[in-house]
Amino acid sequence: MQDGPGSRRQRKRVTAAGVRRLAGLAEWDPAATPRVSAGERAREVFQSERSGRAYEVAEKCAACAAARRATGDPTALCEAHLAEAMGL
Ligand SMILES: [Zn+2]
Repeated sequence: MQDGPGSRRQRKRVTAAGVRRLAGLAEWDPAATPRVSAGERAREVFQSERSGRAYEVAEKCAACAAARRATGDPTALCEAHLAEAMGL
């Protein structure tokens, strides 16, 4: 737990960094993402709330937490949430 996980400002900053990171992902391949029925609903949510919503969900996701620890990147997401953050 670094820099106050409950801090709104910290979350906003991390989210902005995450959005920039997602936008810059070069090796993102939508075709490689399995199509799931939940994706349709997630798409609605994440497109309206933008990626900030994905990070809210990701805070409770064990896979995302593991991805952050593994990469040392506070904006890292698991594959599923990365896909959702991308609006897929
Ligand atoms: Zn996740």
